[in-house]
Amino acid sequence: MQLSFGDYNEGYGAELLCPNCGFNYLHHDKVEVFECGEDANHGMHVTIADGKSVMDTSLIGNPSRRRHGLNIHLWCEGCSAKSVLSISQHKGVTLVDLNYSETTDET
Ligand SMILES: [Zn+2]
Repeated sequence: MQLSFGDYNEGYGAELLCPNCGFNYLHHDKVEVFECGEDANHGMHVTIADGKSVMDTSLIGNPSRRRHGLNIHLWCEGCSAKSVLSISQHKGVTLVDLNYSETTDET
């Protein structure tokens, strides 16, 4: 979906807004990096969360269908949405996307 930003400050950046409620308090809680050759079935997948990193060769969840990708998992202070900011390589361009789901488990 289309990304929405709040204020932009030079040297600081733009505030990414929650795709569900528009609040600007989004937190990272997991980062995934996918590295692979073109059209590969396996590659390098590193997940960083909960104070540790885990590596495997699965490309499931790679936002790029054919090349490198990056997923940043976010949660919102303003609602129960869990969102994923993704960066993917597609041919010669870099694509940025944001998808979300609403969760029902309030913890
Ligand atoms: Zn929200």
